[in-house]
Amino acid sequence: MNATFAMKAGGKLEPIIPRRSKTPKSHTPDDGGGDRCMHSPHRSRRRRRPKNPITVDTCKAKSSLEVVRLALKELGWSWKEVPYGRKSGCDIYWHSAYFHDSDEPGLYNAKVNKFPGMVEIVRKVSLTRIMGQMRNLFPDEYDFYPRSWILPDQYHHFAAEVASMAKETPKQKRFFIVKPDDGAQGEGIYLLNNPQSITSIGMVRSAVVQEYISNPLLVERKKFDLRIYVVLTSLDPLKFYLCKEGMARFCTEQYQAPSMKNLHHTYMHLTNYSLNKHSDNFIHADNVAKGSKRTMTSMWALLQEKGVDISQLCKDIEKVICKTILALIPELKVQMHAELSSGKSMPSCFQILGLDILLSSDLKPYLLEINANPSYRLDYDHEVAPGVYENLISPVDEEIKIPLVKDTLRLVKPVRRITTKSASISARPNSTDPDEITVEVSQLDLDENKSPRHRKQKESCLEELFPAKYGEQYEFVRILERIAFLFNHFLGVRGGLRMGATGFRTFTRRCKLCTFGLSTASVDILFIDMVRKWNAMNPDGISGLCFDGFVEAFSVIAYRKFRGITLQEKVVSLLDLCECHLNAGIVWPPQRRPRVRRLPRVQDSNEYLKVRKQMQGLEN
Ligand code: ADP
Repeated sequence: MNATFAMKAGGKLEPIIPRRSKTPKSHTPDDGGGDRCMHSPHRSRRRRRPKNPITVDTCKAKSSLEVVRLALKELGWSWKEVPYGRKSGCDIYWHSAYFHDSDEPGLYNAKVNKFPGMVEIVRKVSLTRIMGQMRNLFPDEYDFYPRSWILPDQYHHFAAEVASMAKETPKQKRFFIVKPDDGAQGEGIYLLNNPQSITSIGMVRSAVVQEYISNPLLVERKKFDLRIYVVLTSLDPLKFYLCKEGMARFCTEQYQAPSMKNLHHTYMHLTNYSLNKHSDNFIHADNVAKGSKRTMTSMWALLQEKGVDISQLCKDIEKVICKTILALIPELKVQMHAELSSGKSMPSCFQILGLDILLSSDLKPYLLEINANPSYRLDYDHEVAPGVYENLISPVDEEIKIPLVKDTLRLVKPVRRITTKSASISARPNSTDPDEITVEVSQLDLDENKSPRHRKQKESCLEELFPAKYGEQYEFVRILERIAFLFNHFLGVRGGLRMGATGFRTFTRRCKLCTFGLSTASVDILFIDMVRKWNAMNPDGISGLCFDGFVEAFSVIAYRKFRGITLQEKVVSLLDLCECHLNAGIVWPPQRRPRVRRLPRVQDSNEYLKVRKQMQGLEN
C-alpha cells in the first residue's frame, strides 16, 4: 500500500494514506445498484433514484460513521445518508455512544439507535445489581454471571465470603478479578486471591470484584472470549434478535491457571483486543479463521472438528443471551417511563448491544459484560517501522459489522406508503388518479420478486430470539417487569426515577398491603431503611427510593406476608395480590392489563383469597 507520512507533535509519524485499500468484498448493493441491468425487464432504462428514500441522519455517528456509510452503500439507492442533518427530519438517527436528547425537529417521529439510560444500566456495578436481583429470584437460571460483589460497599461481605469459602475448601485456590465500574477495554483490571490486596480501584473508585473463571476453554492453548451482538428493536412488545456472526478475541500469551506468579500477565488473562493488539504476538490475519481475532462461525467449525456439539453450545449461549436481555428490561422500562412522563415525546428506539461471553472448559457460557456501544471500527493501525503506522482494513471486522449494521437498518426501517400504478411503482402519495392504489409496503416487500440471488443477499444475519424462539420458555422470568410497572405507576414525580414516601405509602394503601402482617408504621420504617441503604450506594444527592430499592422493599413485604417456599413464589403471590387490587380500581393500558394467574402456594393469605374470589366474581 502506498502511504505518505505526516510528522505529528512529539515527532510521531502519522500516515496520510487512503483509509480503505479495497471495497468490501462479497457485499454488493442489494436493491438494484450494480447488477440491475441483468434482472430488470427494462434493461435499457436507468433506474431512477426513489423520490423518498429512507434517510439516515449520521451527524452524530462519530466512530460508527464509516460502517454505517458502508452499510448504506450496500443497501443501495433506496437509502440515503444525511450527514449534516436536515430540518424536515430523517427516518433513522444513528448516534454514537449515547441517546442524544436534542431539539432536532424530526427526532421524535423517527427511530433512534439508542435507548435512553442503556449506557448506565449495563455498567458493571448496575449490571451486577441487576444480575444479583435475578439470581435471588431464579438461582438456577441466573448462575451464568460469575459471583460478584460491589466495591467498596460490599467489601466486608466479600471478605467474609472468601474466608468462609477458604474454611470450607482450604485446598481450593480461588481467584478474583477487580473491574472498575467506569472502566472499559481492560483499563484498571487486576486479579487477586486475597481481599486485602484490593487497591484504590475498589476501595476508592467504584468497582466490581468477581469470581475469576479459571478454567476457560482454550484453543491453541490460548484463552478467548466471544463478542456476540444482540439487536433490541422494541420494549413493548419485547423483541430482540441475535446476530448469527460474532467475534472471538484471543489472548496473545499461552494460558496457565492463575497463580501468584502470573496474576499480572495481562496478555494471558485478559482477552481485550485493545490490550492484546500491543503484544508482539498479536496476529492480524487475512483469513477470518486465523489469527488473534476470528469470526464466531469459524470457531464453531474448529470446535466441531474437535467433537464439540455446536448446536447444543449455541442453544446454551442463546439462553444466556435471552435471560440477560430479559434482566435488563425492567430497568430500561423505568428509564423510558421517566423520559416519557417528563412530558417529552419519545422516538422509537432500537439498539445493538455487544455481549461478552466466556466459555469454560466444560462448555458453560458465562456472561462477562455488556457493551451498550460496541466498537464499530473496521480498521487497525499496523506499525511498519518504529513510530510509522499503516492503516489497514480488518477482514474479520468487515465480515461481521457491515452486515450487522445493514440488517439492523433493514429491520427497523419505516414502512412507506407507496402508490402503485399497473406494473410501475412510484411514490406519489397525493395522487388523485383512480387507477393508482396506495398500499403500505415495506421496502423488503418490494424486493420480494427479485431474483434468487437478490433474495440470498437479503437473507438476514439477524435471527429473532424473542419472542419467536424463546418467548414462551422465558415468560416466567419477567417478574421484575411487573414490579417495574408498579414502581412507575406509583412513582408520583413526573420524569423522576425515585419514589417518595407518599408514593410508597399510596402503593401499600392501594394494594391493601397494610391489612395482614404489615402495619402502616412498619411500611414507613421499611421505606426509610431502603432509602438509606440505596442512597448510600448511589450517592447522587437525589432523595427518594430508586427502583432497586423498591424491588428490595417489595421482596421484604413478600417475605413478611406470604409463606411460599421460595422468594420467587412469595414475590409472585404479592404481585398477584397487588394487581388484583389495582385491577379493581384503575383503567389499565391494554398491554399491561394484569392477567389472572394461578393461585400461589400460600397457606395464610386469607386476604389474598378473599380478593381473588371478588376478582373472579367480577370477571365472570
Ligand atoms: P472491560 O470492559 O474493561 O473490557 P471486561 O469485563 O470485559 O472489562 O473484562 C476484560 C477481560 O477480562 C475480559 O475480556 C476477559 O478476558 C477477562 N475477564 C473478565 N471477567 C472475567 C472473569 N470473571 N473470569 C475470567 N476472565 C474474566
